[in-house]
Amino acid sequence: MILFMTRSFDSICRVGSTSLTDVIALHVPMVVGQRACAMIDTGVKPMFAQLRALAEETGVGRAGTKRGLQWILHTHSHHDHIGCNARMQDAFGSLIAGPGYYAAWHEDFERHYQEFARSCPDLVPDTPELRAEVLDILDDPRPLDIHLGAGDVIDLGGGVQLEAIEASGHMIAELAYFERSTSTLFLGDAITGLDWPIFHSHLDVSAYRATLDRLQALIPARNVTQVQAAHYGRMTPAETLTLIERARVYIDDVEASVLSELAGARRVSLERIWTGVCSAMGRIREFRALNMIRAHLADLEARGLCRAVGKFEYELH
Ligand SMILES: [Zn+2]
Repeated sequence: MILFMTRSFDSICRVGSTSLTDVIALHVPMVVGQRACAMIDTGVKPMFAQLRALAEETGVGRAGTKRGLQWILHTHSHHDHIGCNARMQDAFGSLIAGPGYYAAWHEDFERHYQEFARSCPDLVPDTPELRAEVLDILDDPRPLDIHLGAGDVIDLGGGVQLEAIEASGHMIAELAYFERSTSTLFLGDAITGLDWPIFHSHLDVSAYRATLDRLQALIPARNVTQVQAAHYGRMTPAETLTLIERARVYIDDVEASVLSELAGARRVSLERIWTGVCSAMGRIREFRALNMIRAHLADLEARGLCRAVGKFEYELH
């Protein structure tokens, strides 16, 4: 037990990193146990050579061999988190596991594209550029082999265990993973990008708020020593708690901006709210923002603060 308490992050984890844009980084951690290893998400297609080299340099071979890459564990199913699944599975024979809610997005990339980018097809035209943005970073479809839920534990041997933690909000279904021997918390996009030129987006406002509350409570309760997040990299618990507080302010700011647009006229179209919120908060008007604004409208409607009055028209209640 003392051995587990003193084990360092570096002794169980290697991280591959890339830049998606000038301001958006992406980090893919590999967790190394005595018996088996797990990659948490697989990043984007151009990362394959890097991720394969990371495994090989660490002495990680095929699934089924000692310390082999038995698992690809997903936090969530967005294209920038599942991009090397086919090539990694072919190279290492790994099982692919993650939340089952978006299983279809792993198997059918056309559906991934349509449901992710074109949930409002009238407002977001199907263009070659949009298709390329969503699809070019994916290799090939591979089904989820195992559906995971909160509380499931992946035991990699030697005390290295990954416990799935409920982390939805950014998507309808998302998990984080708590590594027990080092008290490391691995996050996908459970805390979204707050300062990007685009809205990173969240699809369930109340679930996002509950996830922030859960993570805030978990950090002291489980004695978290470090946090490794997909787009933020490695953070201390104190930095993570500060980020959680900033995320709450951000959600409140988006809500206030949506309410301000609703207050501007008696019936307000979804397109006008989308345009107005992006302009007021200085973000690019694109599909992620639209998905997020629809989530806020649904949340305000559930709380009795606004209502839909026509096809994609809303008013204050
Ligand atoms: Zn995401």
